[in-house]
Amino acid sequence: MDKKRIYLSSPTMHGDEQRFVQEAFDTNWVAPLGPNVTAFEKEIAAYTGCGHAAALSAGTAAIHMALRLLGIKQGDVVFVSDLTFSASCNPIAYENGTPVFIDAEPDTWNMSPEALKRAYEKYPNPKAVICVHLYGTPAKLDEIMEICEAHGTPLIEDAAESLGSTYRGKHTGTFGKYGIYSFNGNKIITTSGGGMFVSADGEAAKKVTFLATQARDPARHYQHSQIGYNYRMSNVTAGIGRGQLLHLEEHKAKKKEIYRKYCEAFADIPAIRMNPMNPDGDANNWLSGMAIAAESQVTPDMVMDALEEKLNAECRPIWKPMHMQPVFAACDFFAHNEDGSSVGEDVFTRGLCLPSDIKNTDEEMEAIIRTVKELF
Ligand SMILES: *Cc1c(COP(=O)(O)O)cnc(C)c1O
Repeated sequence: MDKKRIYLSSPTMHGDEQRFVQEAFDTNWVAPLGPNVTAFEKEIAAYTGCGHAAALSAGTAAIHMALRLLGIKQGDVVFVSDLTFSASCNPIAYENGTPVFIDAEPDTWNMSPEALKRAYEKYPNPKAVICVHLYGTPAKLDEIMEICEAHGTPLIEDAAESLGSTYRGKHTGTFGKYGIYSFNGNKIITTSGGGMFVSADGEAAKKVTFLATQARDPARHYQHSQIGYNYRMSNVTAGIGRGQLLHLEEHKAKKKEIYRKYCEAFADIPAIRMNPMNPDGDANNWLSGMAIAAESQVTPDMVMDALEEKLNAECRPIWKPMHMQPVFAACDFFAHNEDGSSVGEDVFTRGLCLPSDIKNTDEEMEAIIRTVKELF
């Protein structure tokens, strides 16, 4: 197959990245840390209004550090979104905590406040709630925060996919006690790989920086009173991030345009529903997804196969819910529906992610839309 590949979401570079990387080379600040890291943290803090930020090697590392700050230990229960990527909950297992999965709700495909309430009936004292903003759509933060606050549970926002998304005018990632962003290769901006821990609490960000730099006590000799991690972002990587951040708003605008085009094109096909938006938020539309009506003869596999075979276009299934994963089979799960049926499972079965790469041309978008429409 020599047809040009149409990507789901690949890195989009602009040249500014190289300027910051060149600066790192010119000053021999290749590693460790250095001025790009400090500047990138300040720039993310200024852009999101999060207060304080600590640049790390991955978004997963940032979630791990948030759980470390909360002192999660053996047997501690942590409520976490069920319809997500495994990185949202793996760090709970790193600390031998017990993940309890909270179903999605149909309005935003994010954590269901109803399921969350049910989980509290069985587990009144979770040590944290990890809430994801799936595909860039903000969760129902008012409801979720109210429940968390009523129980005194700290909220960690996994905003790995939603950098640039806002809820009631405020950036996702800045509502919880702690928030995290990811700069993995397929996210809305990338550093090739990296993440950010954010918090209004400057001491928390300092503590994360300390733990992520091998927990070296302030002494001339190498002294340690705590277990540390090698989780910091390098100065070269942060340079890429600084260049990318200059283009985040432009990426967001293009992602929104892709979503708008799909919505408009499929508006006359009743069997197709695009992934939901939150009317109280402004999504970055990182990935455009669709769900097919249960009555339809068309399956997500048919759509993905057609796009793959006819256009060499990359699609992706919806994240397979965590309660369906073999590795988490023993974990508890709370469904959104009263009859115990799972919204996340339903979305997984009927949905898929469409090519959402901002470099896709108008012609490619038209071809994708035509190919999907032919199936219905
Ligand atoms: C990408 C992603 C992560 C992990 O980020 P990395 O930087 O790849 O470690 C965590 N949660 C969600 C929802 C993600 O999509």
